[in-house]
Amino acid sequence: MHTEVIDGRRLARQVTDAVAAEAARLPRRPGLAVIIVGDDPASHLYVRNKVRTAEQVGFKSETVRLDADTSEADVLARINWLNSRDDIDGILVQLPLPPQMNTLRVMATVDPRKDVDGLHALNAGKLTQGSLGLIPCTPMGCLKIIKSVIPDLTGCHAVVIGASNIVGKPMAALLLEENATVTQTHIHTRDTQFICRGADILVSAVGKPGLVRGNWIKPRAVVIDVGTSRVELPDGSVVTRGDVAFDEAMGVAGAITPVPGGVGPMTIACLMENTLIAAKARMG
Ligand code: NAD
Repeated sequence: MHTEVIDGRRLARQVTDAVAAEAARLPRRPGLAVIIVGDDPASHLYVRNKVRTAEQVGFKSETVRLDADTSEADVLARINWLNSRDDIDGILVQLPLPPQMNTLRVMATVDPRKDVDGLHALNAGKLTQGSLGLIPCTPMGCLKIIKSVIPDLTGCHAVVIGASNIVGKPMAALLLEENATVTQTHIHTRDTQFICRGADILVSAVGKPGLVRGNWIKPRAVVIDVGTSRVELPDGSVVTRGDVAFDEAMGVAGAITPVPGGVGPMTIACLMENTLIAAKARMG
């Protein structure tokens, strides 16, 4: 069977081109602020990519870099300053935060109208009630990818592996809003493999390379691989791997996202879209 490898970069360009065109018609440039705490190289790379894309679509962008031992009170004060500024429409706090910080308290401090990561309890609550606020970028990107292959998800069985606040839970809520029948699995689920075999749409958001084997996949299923793990090869080189055993999935799945080049670029594109939505709402 032919398996389509979905080009996440191409889909992301479609989103960012539309964002750039609409941003150019606004009375002022949308402003995105990113706060990064600590020196995790992967987080810094993600932030650089986000800032670069923000500039490409014509946004004003600002990065607040803080040391790993910064206090939570200091981070909250920075967020409050950004909340108060007219020129900042979106605030993103790059996760994970150092252990001395309470992530939920930090997210709760971001003005929900500027919460472009969609992680404030108000936006998370709106999502579960179906009155959509700002939606977390990764699940939104996954949904756009899925709909590029299956425009109408009504009645499809979707399985989401992983139940984090940032990916798994909002992904399941979004699929439910699209009238899919959703099963959510997590570390304590019994026989995840059996559940996955019934999935028309399989989204894996775990962070365990090779977890999803070829024989977990229903023939012709759409497989979305959110997992992003750095793996060291025997020759010492380091590569990025998803959760899905990609070679095994080829020939079984109907369509699959590669890692890298699948969900990652769409996450950034959806961040730009959220910033545009927030800016438009603030400009009236
Ligand atoms: P997390 O650690 O917060 O959550 C992982 C989830 O997986 C948990 O709900 C846990 O119960 C579940 N889990 C763990 N082991 C399992 C197993 N063996 N079987 C079934 N479920 C299991 O992680 P997260 O923040 O949700 O991120 C998940 C992955 O997605 C990571 O690899 C992360 O790097 C990646 N990610 C990628 C993007 C992107 O833009 N491409 C964005 C966000 C996260």
